[in-house]
Amino acid sequence: MIGLISATAAGAAARDRLAAAWPERTRVYEGPVGDAVRRAFAECEQLVCFLATGAVVRLVAPLLGDKASDPGVVCVDEAGRFAVSLVGGHGGGANELAREVGGLLGAEPVVTTATDAVGIPGLDTLGLPVEGDVAGVTRALLDGEPVALDAEVAWPLPPVPFADGGTGAYTVRLTDRAVAPGTQEVLLRPPSLVVGVGASRGAPVEEVLEVIEGALRDAGLSAASVAELATVDAKADEPGIVEAARRLGVPVVTHSAEELAAVEVPNPSDAPLAAVGTPSVAEAAALVRGGELLVPKRKSERADGRPAMATCAVVRRPGRGRLAVVGLGPGARDLLTPRAKAELERASVLVGLDQYVAQIRDLLRPGTRILESGLGAEEERARTAVAEARRGRAVALIGSGDAGVYAMASPALAEASDDIDVVGVPGVTAALAAAALLGAPLGHDHVSISLSDLHTPWEVIERRVRAAAEADLVVTFYNPRSRGRDWQLPKALAILAGHREPTTPVGVVRNASRPDGTARVTTLAELDPATVDMMTVVTVGNTASRTVAGRMVTPRGYRWQDAASMSGSAAGQEDTQ
Ligand code: SAH
Repeated sequence: MIGLISATAAGAAARDRLAAAWPERTRVYEGPVGDAVRRAFAECEQLVCFLATGAVVRLVAPLLGDKASDPGVVCVDEAGRFAVSLVGGHGGGANELAREVGGLLGAEPVVTTATDAVGIPGLDTLGLPVEGDVAGVTRALLDGEPVALDAEVAWPLPPVPFADGGTGAYTVRLTDRAVAPGTQEVLLRPPSLVVGVGASRGAPVEEVLEVIEGALRDAGLSAASVAELATVDAKADEPGIVEAARRLGVPVVTHSAEELAAVEVPNPSDAPLAAVGTPSVAEAAALVRGGELLVPKRKSERADGRPAMATCAVVRRPGRGRLAVVGLGPGARDLLTPRAKAELERASVLVGLDQYVAQIRDLLRPGTRILESGLGAEEERARTAVAEARRGRAVALIGSGDAGVYAMASPALAEASDDIDVVGVPGVTAALAAAALLGAPLGHDHVSISLSDLHTPWEVIERRVRAAAEADLVVTFYNPRSRGRDWQLPKALAILAGHREPTTPVGVVRNASRPDGTARVTTLAELDPATVDMMTVVTVGNTASRTVAGRMVTPRGYRWQDAASMSGSAAGQEDTQ
């Protein structure tokens, strides 16, 4: 029973709406609220109080005993905007009740229990077909009860807070086998099966479907895990195949006869070789992207004894892990892209430098496995990320700024094989974050140069600085100066000074977009390298860069005036974009 207590007219109106909606489940407690709360607390499994949280805290505090047996208490504010799960979130069911009450009254449920607050994905929102006790197992996850994952197939699932050690009263089973869900069990169907199909012209859809369904049934496989029907190009429009795929709700994927002819199969034959130019269609099309042949070629059976018109073969393809290489931007949360955020929520494994992990920890979903390491462990991080993806997991490898700029993308992709999917998410790199603070220093051709000679010999760095100086490029120096590396920046600036005026503007930006960030514009002659450290980028203008109203500006073209006056010409149009 849910006890309802209110004090004001607005509270009573909302209370009556609940009582009318759930006449069987609720009981209204009238009278002085202190009394009403005490009686309801003793008699009901749950309370909804149309009172301030402060008032309810004071009233129930002396009554609280044990969280396993205390009633769950939900508070709804005077305006009916929030349904707050106050105590007994899990044991007393207050979290769930807050959601229900919120749904009924149009109020926002407020749930502060750790797992709920961060948002656990519903099992029916993972993008895979589900069977079984979805509501029960999702509720168990929400309430922090142990839910075991039993993964028969490696598949890059988003994070779900499964129990450590693989045991629990509830189970989520990732399987493509035709098993029925047990009690307190959910089956997730990974798209792991490829069905290769061959068909003679005019093969009826029933016959195509029958051979496919028979193959799946005899092998104990679930049709919900079929990812695609695969066949040869020549059969792309074969009506029986197209319609069978439509009924199964999967696409038809076709491959050229040459490609199929090159696949080694157990049961080649002469008939398709003559008809479409490959000794195998069904087996070869199923196997062409690799995997394990679960059902070798089988033919349809026809009651009338005429030759079979359809064949199929079933392959379990290897689970492809997913590696997202995610740039976090320069620091500020609103410079982290929505796509980066989505990838962080999607990954079940996060790999990164500890300080970057700290920057986004609050965005991670419960159940995300965090593999963080300290400075200098780049190669190891890259290897770890790739190895986790190759185990079939969804991995995010993070870096500050853009993860491809002096960061993790290249060591990771140098390790990665083609058996994983790789997704890059660009981030705002330090040079751009700094430029936006300085003004418009990158208005014309520019280059970034890292002054770190840990991995690159100084001669190479110096050659590049000289080339940039001679080519009159705006230069942004990354890794400009550290305690142990203090002569490189003065040396590089001296090289640029050989080709640029002492008055050339130089931007010095430290901790761009972070709370203690600074940006200033000085000149080549006046820059004091001692003010520069590893949290800084230094942007040196070209011979046309100017300081305008304290901002650094590099004109878009040296002949901009001329170009703009050539109205209608290609140059003029280009420069007015
Ligand atoms: N992947 C990063 C760069 C890594 S190299 C990016 O794309 O931004 C590390 C160097 O980047 C630092 O030594 C510093 O020169 C620069 N840097 C990174 N973040 C910065 C910030 N917020 N402000 C100023 N410089 C920064």
